[in-house]
Amino acid sequence: MSDGLPGPLPVVSRPMVDPFGRTITYLRVSVTDRCDLRCFYCMSEDMTFLPKKDLLTLEELDRLCSAFIAKGVRKLRLTGGEPLVRRNVMSLVSSLSRHLRSGALNELTLTTNGSQLARFAQELADCGVRRVNVSLDTLNADKFRAITRWGELDKVLAGIEAARAAGLAVKINAVALKNLNEDEIPSLMQWAHGLDMALTLIEVMPMGEIGEGRIDQYVPLSLVRARLAKQFTLTDIDDNTGGPARYVRVAETGGKLGFITPMTHNFCESCNRVRITCTGTLHTCLGQEDAADLRKPLRASADDELLSSAIDRAIGLKPKGHDFIIDRRHNRPSVSRHMSVTGG
Ligand code: SAM
Ligand code: SF4
Repeated sequence: MSDGLPGPLPVVSRPMVDPFGRTITYLRVSVTDRCDLRCFYCMSEDMTFLPKKDLLTLEELDRLCSAFIAKGVRKLRLTGGEPLVRRNVMSLVSSLSRHLRSGALNELTLTTNGSQLARFAQELADCGVRRVNVSLDTLNADKFRAITRWGELDKVLAGIEAARAAGLAVKINAVALKNLNEDEIPSLMQWAHGLDMALTLIEVMPMGEIGEGRIDQYVPLSLVRARLAKQFTLTDIDDNTGGPARYVRVAETGGKLGFITPMTHNFCESCNRVRITCTGTLHTCLGQEDAADLRKPLRASADDELLSSAIDRAIGLKPKGHDFIIDRRHNRPSVSRHMSVTGG
């Protein structure tokens, strides 16, 4: 462990650059495919989860993340499933925080449903986490229960409060759902902005069998934006986070509103990210079936040479972009993996 002072910047011997010249600096890690909720657009009610024996241990996840950091990753996001339901997950956060202290990592963050945040917020802040994304689609307790199948809105609100009290910046992510929260988006935005939280809206992506029709859920954000623009003054802002969201400033609230539109806007040109699953599979594109097994090279030797070459090979094959289409004829997902496996 370091002394907590920022050290010299790490020497990245060979940065990860894909065939389209995009340098990979952002890693998203699904630490578990399990979740304490069952949002209907994400999982079926009777999801089958991965056998525990297939999962990487927390120590292996740390090693894998550290290998990516040594190859130039500067931002790391833990996700899932629900990252905070993985047993002992804070030991992983705590051990990864050494990369923040050494200056190798700029940011360690997570995406959470907020249900366990009241318990973990302070510890996260103590580990150097500065921001969290909390997914929340509605402020109506009945709708929340309907969307998540059994979730309690109050727990999430308490989690958000605890995060704010611990000094964490909170961004709210909401999936726009036809006939469900469409009407509530203005009030959700006003609530978030009133608490100084940005809101990002997400289009439903066709990932994984969920036992319900996707077409019924999908509402294009272009439509949501047009409706908002009748009520609010939206001004495009340049937000250089390299992510897929496009942001506007809302004059009336002073807050920031983001749109993630995989279905209507292709955001792949500036993609700087890759994802690993809790079984050590590397996905270089959220919207393609490509996959590289990193568990085998990780376990094959104690040093990282094999692992590093496997990562290089996979980055060398990163696809140019995705092509999400809701298959209207067969009403089936265009990517068979669930978002909870890849990590949203
Ligand atoms: N459990 C955590 C949470 O809900 O924030 C982290 C994992 S969740 C898979 C990450 C994000 O993916 C959430 O904001 C969720 O709303 C979103 N998501 C899940 N399935 C989706 C889908 N089919 N289309 C679009 N977004 C989805
Ligand atoms: Fe769980 Fe997040 Fe998927 Fe909802 S979106 S079921 S909270 S993993």
